[in-house]
Amino acid sequence: MSEKLRQAVSGEAFITDEAVIARLSKDYYWYSPVLEKELAGKRADYVIVPETEEELRRALQAAASEKIPVTIRGGGTGNYGQAVPMTGGLVVDLSRLTEILEIGDGFVRVQAGARLRDIEKAIHETGQELKIYPSTFVKATVGGFVSGGSGGVGSVTWGNLWDGNVISAKIMTIEASIRELTVSGDELQHYIHSYGTIGIMTEVTIPITPKSRWVQQIYAFTDFSEALHFSRAVAEEEKWKKRLVSVMEAPISDFFKPLKKHIGASDRALVLLEIDESNQALLEQEADRFHGKAIYTISADQYRKGIGLSDFTWNHTTLWALKADKQWTYLQNFFSIDNLYKQVKEIKSRFGADVLLHFEWLRDKGRLVPAALPLVKFESKKQLDEVIHFFNEIGASTSDPHTYLLGAGGWDMQMDAIAQKKKENDPFGLLNQAKIPNKEHIQGLNV
Ligand code: FAD
Repeated sequence: MSEKLRQAVSGEAFITDEAVIARLSKDYYWYSPVLEKELAGKRADYVIVPETEEELRRALQAAASEKIPVTIRGGGTGNYGQAVPMTGGLVVDLSRLTEILEIGDGFVRVQAGARLRDIEKAIHETGQELKIYPSTFVKATVGGFVSGGSGGVGSVTWGNLWDGNVISAKIMTIEASIRELTVSGDELQHYIHSYGTIGIMTEVTIPITPKSRWVQQIYAFTDFSEALHFSRAVAEEEKWKKRLVSVMEAPISDFFKPLKKHIGASDRALVLLEIDESNQALLEQEADRFHGKAIYTISADQYRKGIGLSDFTWNHTTLWALKADKQWTYLQNFFSIDNLYKQVKEIKSRFGADVLLHFEWLRDKGRLVPAALPLVKFESKKQLDEVIHFFNEIGASTSDPHTYLLGAGGWDMQMDAIAQKKKENDPFGLLNQAKIPNKEHIQGLNV
């Protein structure tokens, strides 16, 4: 037991319940059968839930002086074991640092533990809304999203986290004497999706935008390629305000139990949309061109009242599949917009019903990209590697979600700059240990 650490925080902030410590040592890594095995049993020695930044600072100072490894946790909804303490030590749960500090015209500044849904609720009062957020926005914190996520709802219009969707962040270092930095611009890019390996985010400022009236609609198609064509037309049409354009082939919709009564046997492919209500009539005309029909509509007045369509998209699609059958797992791929239909054909003729296609249209550096979270029926690590290899070979590049190693998942992480920042901000190498691999290790993986 570290007495220094114990003394640094209030009795309430220092967790002693073993079951809670075990729970707060895990995230959603079990979506991957590979990570489920690799990360089983990893556990923190200590967990604290600080209530103030001052309490956080005192705990970090104690950890630094006793060289205790530190892993930061937001909502714990990451899929790659990002928040799992590989070497034990201290888990710092930031979910009580939730203050909304400033709402301006086009930006909001918040403490890092604020949940995205709560931020959106607060900015709605000012006629504004978030630009991008993960489908886990009910639980996910803004610090966790910026440090461990990538994009989500809104990315079809606004791009991912690296596309100007974070304005600045306040960072605590962990060293003999803790410093507080404010980072923005190019420097901020290294902190995005870096799993809290180079600093602790205490405050985040993100851009926001005037609020729309979002209608949620499901269009059904008898043919998957028509659904894909329609979704592309919607994603490409810049005049239409949209937040979500998701496409799923059958039988993925069979997994969506709460939507079952709306979906017929001939509905072989679905497009799930969030679109501004002013575009709804034109959208229906567009769907006609591709023989699609609206099978379910949630009006703008019902937005955020009950289950929403984004609860079936992004990695929630995988969740519904896993609920139905634990053998499903998933990949993350960037298809090529120019070869999309050819790539789809190749995958279907190679894997048939063992790989089910699910696309999320998004922008990456301004470019429209058919990103995918395909479902894969898992047999073995070897079989999964073969599927990944096939996707990569045909140009549907994989960001491998079956690794906890930073930079090995396929995002273009600036690993040299991250290593430099680590030296400056975490000279004892305490933050999220074992997540930064050496270069050779990365080269041997499915990048
Ligand atoms: P956590 O899981 O707690 O942490 C994520 C990483 O950030 C960890 O490495 C942690 O150490 C670090 N971290 C957390 N807070 C801080 C901080 N303040 N300072 C420094 N480091 C910190 N992701 C997407 O990008 N888009 C999606 O649409 C999406 N959909 C999902 C759907 C499901 C069903 C699930 C299970 C996951 C999904 N994810 C998605 C992954 C995850 O939910 C998001 O990335 C989410 O934003 C993570 O936030 P969190 O607060 O839960 O972070």
